[in-house]
Amino acid sequence: MDCLSFDDFSLFLTALGYCAEKHRMQRRKDARRTPYLNHPIEVAELLWRVGGVRDARVVIAALLHDVIEDTGARPEEISRLFGEEVLSLVLEVSDDKSLPKAARKKLQIAHAPGLSRGAKLIKIADKICNVRDITISPPPDWPLERRLEYLDWAEKVVSGIGEDSDLDKLFREILTKGREHLERTPDST
Ligand code: NDP
Ligand code: ZN
Repeated sequence: MDCLSFDDFSLFLTALGYCAEKHRMQRRKDARRTPYLNHPIEVAELLWRVGGVRDARVVIAALLHDVIEDTGARPEEISRLFGEEVLSLVLEVSDDKSLPKAARKKLQIAHAPGLSRGAKLIKIADKICNVRDITISPPPDWPLERRLEYLDWAEKVVSGIGEDSDLDKLFREILTKGREHLERTPDST
């Protein structure tokens, strides 16, 4: 049986608490305003269950993947609490928020092929969650066209990653189902 060591599990729980604290004021953009924390937990869970990832640093970095980008968590703090390798993974999957959004989106596509393996897996799991959210629990003010554009862009990022894994297969399935669903959805905005 695959299992984490006592130390790894302790660090995982510390990361879960840290992530909850950092995202405590935030909600997802769906109509129910789901607590933001659900999202990093889903990303970490996918890595563990579907990706078969047993490297604790990668699972912990998945939990922390949005804390620098979205909460202003300090890199030094992440390095001190969770180590340099976790910090490096989190930085790899973080956008530079000082850039305009269009540039950030282009850079995600450009950087995807050069990511480390752990960062690639986190990126695919993140895109699985976001494509699923765009499909079934989208921001209520997004027109259909914007939802479809998001799916097209996510496909470009994941294609650039070029990873042949169970996560990649799941991404393709979710993307296909998402497009089928959106084709049947009237644009209500
Ligand atoms: P945003 O970056 O504004 O929003 C998507 C991000 O929000 C996700 O990547 C995810 O990031 C986070 N998120 C939080 N809650 C949800 C949720 N319920 N469902 C999905 N994502 C959620 O979107 P984009 O700028 O990427 O816009 C998508 C497309 O629309 C682009 O291709 C852009 O060109 C186009 N666009 C259209 C506009 C219009 O008015 N028509 C305006 C702007 C863009 P995380 O994982 O980090 O939480
Ligand atoms: Zn995310």
